[in-house]
Amino acid sequence: MEAVTVAAQARERLRASFASGRTRPAAWRAAQLRGLLRMAVEMEAEICAALRADLAKPRTESYVHEISLVTSSCKFALKNLQKWMKPKKVPAGLLTFPSTARVTAEPLGVVLVISAWNYPFLLAIDPVIGAIAAGNAVVLKPSEIAPATSSLLADLLPQYVDSSCIKVVEGGVAETTALLEQKWDKIFYTGNSKVGRIVMSFAAKHLTPVVLELGGKCPVVVDSNIDLHVTAKRIAAGKWGCNNGQACISPDYIITTKSFAPKLLDSLSKVLEKFYGKDPLRSADLSRIVNSNHFNRLKALMDEEMVYDKIVFGGQSDEQQLKIAPTLLLDPPLDSAIMKEEVFGPLLPIITVDKIHESFALINSMSKPLAAYLFSKDSKLKHQFERNVSAGGMVFNDTSIHLTNQHLPFGGVGESGVGSYHGTFSFDAFAHKKAVLDRSFLGEAKARYPPYTPGKLKIL
Ligand code: NAD
Repeated sequence: MEAVTVAAQARERLRASFASGRTRPAAWRAAQLRGLLRMAVEMEAEICAALRADLAKPRTESYVHEISLVTSSCKFALKNLQKWMKPKKVPAGLLTFPSTARVTAEPLGVVLVISAWNYPFLLAIDPVIGAIAAGNAVVLKPSEIAPATSSLLADLLPQYVDSSCIKVVEGGVAETTALLEQKWDKIFYTGNSKVGRIVMSFAAKHLTPVVLELGGKCPVVVDSNIDLHVTAKRIAAGKWGCNNGQACISPDYIITTKSFAPKLLDSLSKVLEKFYGKDPLRSADLSRIVNSNHFNRLKALMDEEMVYDKIVFGGQSDEQQLKIAPTLLLDPPLDSAIMKEEVFGPLLPIITVDKIHESFALINSMSKPLAAYLFSKDSKLKHQFERNVSAGGMVFNDTSIHLTNQHLPFGGVGESGVGSYHGTFSFDAFAHKKAVLDRSFLGEAKARYPPYTPGKLKIL
């Protein structure tokens, strides 16, 4: 069947299911959330196998970064569902006396979720959890760049959730374009900002609201007033321990002072050798690069003439296995591609400055990042960083782990994204907050009605 027909049929079927009111009751929403939870628990081995096939993702990372985050999202939504759904009473106000007022969260309708390849299980299911909790019907389009996970999701979802309201459509650019041509009540897209612009232009045709979860260059500022060993381990965990750097909130580059750089470099090198051994290309604890396009892109970043001699650690690669070793570069020029594009892989440039405060201007000279990190014991510096650096999220003295906190919104700012999700914010992303004012027939104010005589104006 043609992609356009598949897309139109999926939307029409789900629209009919949504119109029937099927997705609205709390019991239906809870049953779907329990279904997703059961799927993540019962199919753990199959999910890990798909992630290994797509990315050679180590089992621990698959479990900790994808499966367990999905299960905790489901549990959080189940625990809070009644509270989220309950209309919130607000003060009624004197002008409308006597009346009551409330904010009612209503489902948007039929929503489209388009997800990315790097965390192909988590990034597909996590937005679906929010969409279901808010009472919507959902079409999920997983990433074709992670084909094993995409086909597993298409196979599993109908076994665990109501397929008349939650449907997986697989495919690449043609199929996604066909879906984008349909009218949706919300589009939730995770991926790069170039495609984010395409998604937004399709959405504009129907005035469809969007959430865009994009990327960017996430800086890590390292002060000298730190616990060096802990810092090096936490940077390594957030970079190479997250899909070998193929994560949207992975450290993209480090800024530190010229005088401190040798110590940091030494500590990072030692930690990397301890984590991945002397031959990291053979380490089972390091994901591979997703495909040859991305492998070649990363090689080109490393091999650029003005960058090649800046490699101070790592640099090995194996095209057959699509593996690239953790690689540190010292002071590549700021106009090199590695400092202009999002790295999204195992290469980590270290940029040195004379004084740590210079890092603020450097970060602010680039697009606003999805996350910004600062390692320091200096509370004044932390305060200044928080006030002066704009980023989707911020962590002091660690990297990447803010996304595990369901009470924090996860999303970008500026070019790193539009909107946010996780926890309550996921429900809010997929619900319309309807203003409801309920008046009595009493409380007539003559001054409100014509003829507008000067006497009436005086009363007001
Ligand atoms: P990708 O190639 O999987 O693309 C994402 C989705 O867009 C896929 O479903 C794909 O089918 C669709 N797509 C691709 N090209 C398209 C086109 N021309 N028209 C319509 N749809 C199209 O993933 P990617 O973009 O390579 O993902 C990596 C990027 O995503 C990085 O920039 C990363 O920082 C960002 N990212 C952000 C988050 C976040 O939560 N903010 C999470 C993961 C990745």
